[in-house]
Amino acid sequence: MLTDAAQRSTASGAPLEGHDAVAVIGGGIAGLVAARDLARSGARVVLLEAEDDLGGRVRGESIDDVALDIGAESFATRGGAVAALLAELGMSEDIVNPAPLGSWVVTADAMRAVPLPPAGTIGIPATPLSWATLRALGVLGACRAAVEPLLPPSVGRTGALDEVIRARLGVRVLDRLVRPVVLGIHSTDPAEMTLRSVPGLAEAYKRRGSLILAARDLRASRTAAGGAVAGLRGGMASLVTRLRDELDQLGVTVRTSTRVVALHRDDTPAPAASGPAVPEGKRTPGLWRISTADTAQLHADAVVLAVPEHIAARLLGHPEVTPAEVEVVALLVEDPRLDAAPRGTGALVAEVADAPVITAKALTHVTVKWPQRGAERAAGRHVLRLSYGRLGRAPETRELDDRAATARALIDASRILGLELSPSAVRGMRRRVWTNSSISHAATSHPLPPGITLAGDWVSGTGLASVIPGARRVAADTLAALHRSVSGSTPTGEVHPQR
Ligand SMILES: Cc1cc2nc3c(=O)[nH]c(=O)nc-3n(C[C@H](O)[C@H](O)[C@H](O)COP(=O)(O)OP(=O)(O)OC[C@H]3O[C@@H](n4cnc5c(N)ncnc54)[C@H](O)[C@@H]3O)c2cc1C
Repeated sequence: MLTDAAQRSTASGAPLEGHDAVAVIGGGIAGLVAARDLARSGARVVLLEAEDDLGGRVRGESIDDVALDIGAESFATRGGAVAALLAELGMSEDIVNPAPLGSWVVTADAMRAVPLPPAGTIGIPATPLSWATLRALGVLGACRAAVEPLLPPSVGRTGALDEVIRARLGVRVLDRLVRPVVLGIHSTDPAEMTLRSVPGLAEAYKRRGSLILAARDLRASRTAAGGAVAGLRGGMASLVTRLRDELDQLGVTVRTSTRVVALHRDDTPAPAASGPAVPEGKRTPGLWRISTADTAQLHADAVVLAVPEHIAARLLGHPEVTPAEVEVVALLVEDPRLDAAPRGTGALVAEVADAPVITAKALTHVTVKWPQRGAERAAGRHVLRLSYGRLGRAPETRELDDRAATARALIDASRILGLELSPSAVRGMRRRVWTNSSISHAATSHPLPPGITLAGDWVSGTGLASVIPGARRVAADTLAALHRSVSGSTPTGEVHPQR
């Protein structure tokens, strides 16, 4: 059942029919990392990815020979899990820190633009009476926040994150800092979250009895979301290339352009739509049968489902989940005024009740944020990345053609940066719509059939700093279950752990 990884064929074009110990479905970071760990421990692994390319929401693009990440472009350094993986992959030297310029918050009516107080956890100011916080909140808002450590712990003890922040820190902290940061990082509204949704925050709050003191602790320990980030010299997409190479070396069968459409326990009959049924005599009870869009089938003892929530729900027969969409529109712009980094590394856009004139929810000034992009800056070329799609709304650019989307992004960039950028300065554009996970954990609330495990950001939390350790835990759990089945029902199976 399990075999030595070194004996695996590397032929990714091998026929799909067959029996692999573990099928990993989904070749985003979660699936790639889980497949790697499983294969390193000696499991036979096949990885099935629907798209032509691996990486999922980590993806490289280029505009006019200028490379950029059109999905994730950095990772949070909290916890050290990403750095540990990069070290294993020999990529530690590729880690780069963003320029220490900080980012800004701009209101959607373009009336206010202030630097974001540095290193606050999800926007909670660690030093409420600092110059940066006073600028962001005004004197009243900063003083209201500053009294928070004096409030009894009973204030804002329970409830959604927005209620807790409003009760303890005031409405300005919520509207001007926390909401834009949460929307930017988690693509969700604080009303949809609790303190527990933010790694480390609930524990630190319980310990200190104050959100401000908790934010200070987390800043010092760098364990919370929304703190320090780092990137890779070759872009985050270089991690995908490296993981793919490693899977090939480990003998993992990688099948791209292979969309999984159904999963069946092999002791249950397959519906006609999922491809030819396996002849009765050839069925092996207890194995999972995986059907793909091209009607191929394969068997596996265990399945790691590393697909987004709405796909997992469909494959598991759970109630439908509607995914949230975001669109990234990246512009290559030649304008020397951008060298001055008018909004530091970028800006988050805070919603306003009246007359919004900016529809983007965030802008990253890529060529300023990443110091390794000096050559492009020297050539006067700048990459601006705008993201669209607030909670519960389709991205404003979704239905626009490329021309109109470029025009929209240029107007938003001009308003966010406080510069009138000319259409003639635009050298090119790339765009991509992504589905983003909710953090509702709706599908995880259903019991899973034996042999199936779930990986990905909707299970472990948004962002690579949560996805990577989560996928590693799933690989370890899957392996432990396989070991149990090897020692129990299949005494001839072999396992050759490599760690
Ligand atoms: C615009 C954007 C910017 C982001 N920026 C950052 C950032 O800077 N830092 C950060 O840490 N995080 C960032 N994130 C979040 C981060 O990208 C994700 O949390 C992470 O990449 C999710 O990885 P995953 O493997 O769980 O899911 P995915 O990357 O979505 O991978 C799932 C894979 O499953 C495949 N799949 C789907 N259906 C099937 C099927 N039926 N059969 C086979 N395969 C299937 C998909 O094609 C995909 O490749 C960003 C996300 C977005 C959208």
